[in-house]
Amino acid sequence: MSHTEPLLAVEGLRKSFGDNPVLKSIDLTVGQGRVLALIGPSGSGKTTVLRCLNGLERPDAGTVAFSGGPRVEFGPKTTRQQAQSLRDRSAMVFQGYNLFPHMTVLQNVIEGPVQVQRRPKAQAVAEAEALLERVGLADKRDEYPHELSGGQQQRVGIVRALALRPALLLFDEPTSALDPELVGDVLTVIKELAEEGWTMVMVTHELAFAREVADEVVFMDGGVVVERGHPDTVLRNPAHERTRQFVHRLL
Ligand code: ADP
Repeated sequence: MSHTEPLLAVEGLRKSFGDNPVLKSIDLTVGQGRVLALIGPSGSGKTTVLRCLNGLERPDAGTVAFSGGPRVEFGPKTTRQQAQSLRDRSAMVFQGYNLFPHMTVLQNVIEGPVQVQRRPKAQAVAEAEALLERVGLADKRDEYPHELSGGQQQRVGIVRALALRPALLLFDEPTSALDPELVGDVLTVIKELAEEGWTMVMVTHELAFAREVADEVVFMDGGVVVERGHPDTVLRNPAHERTRQFVHRLL
């Protein structure tokens, strides 16, 4: 599907929680600058895929490889250090924003760059201010998360991810906690990032948005990839009955 060099290649990804096999060998490829939308019913394993890519969960088996490194083969012998090497390649935007409540907007955004990436604070602040300006939140820099609307908090969540300068952005249902009238602003920001050439994997229930923005749609059910392809095909004319039932319910 993707005609550019793959930024991310995932092969045979498996993950169980106890004796519940949640991912049963997932393969994914995301080209540089491409947007992949992951769709599927609740519990199909979409969030677990993102968390495995980001190093928040440790897969039982499979390979996760970023162009230019790292490449991690998961198994009993994988070291913690190898597993953690994936962390700084991607940044996650969470469904529930996950901002630090006791920190201002600016502090939330510079925390990762300064504390984790050890970048100079003045540089991190300047970059954070520019990013906040971009999403229309320059005047909120000294406010606390609870003083902002959900849509504003999620735009801060996006800025916080961008400030880490990741190769890959991961979105986990970024608008599903928002009141309907606040969804549009957040989707607009995500669409602009896609147009700018950010590489993204996005879990979403917004199928119309996926159709507009994604280069490829992957439909998961029961821990497997059932179908993948061009958004118009998967969302309008799917090959599989399970996909058909799912998209007809939501579109
Ligand atoms: P989706 O994002 O498609 O809704 P998830 O990846 O969140 O699916 O969850 C897939 C399955 O994995 C669900 O059955 C869920 O209960 C289970 N699961 C997810 N995280 C954990 C966990 N930390 N411990 C145990 N089970 C989990």
